[in-house]
Amino acid sequence: MQDAVEGSRLRGAQEKGREVTPAKIDLKTVAIASMAILAWLFCAFSTANIARANGQNYNLWLLVGLLTGPLGLMFAYLFFRLTGERTRRTRYGADHRYDVPDMISCPNCGQSVPRSYDSCQFCRFPLHGRR
Ligand SMILES: [Zn+2]
Repeated sequence: MQDAVEGSRLRGAQEKGREVTPAKIDLKTVAIASMAILAWLFCAFSTANIARANGQNYNLWLLVGLLTGPLGLMFAYLFFRLTGERTRRTRYGADHRYDVPDMISCPNCGQSVPRSYDSCQFCRFPLHGRR
């Protein structure tokens, strides 16, 4: 009789244990899932930010980022690193003559400066008389 009571208590404890364990797994799963979603969103927004910094449509690239996550971020990073507006601007000035900068010599100091520049990068002398 005593054994039977013990046994049912044990069974009760085991059942309780079984009830607790799935709940713990659920919590973990939820935590991991929300972390993954946050990481995914972070990737998406980073993708969009990189795209915007390179003169692309923010919302379009946010959508791309949401669809592709970390892969999209990697792609965007490499793609814009190689071809991006920002890279071009850094290299050649914010004009449309990107590929090989056409060099002229500054009428003031004689240094070679890209024709696309508005003013000499060495002495700030205006190169084309505009602005
Ligand atoms: Zn100059």
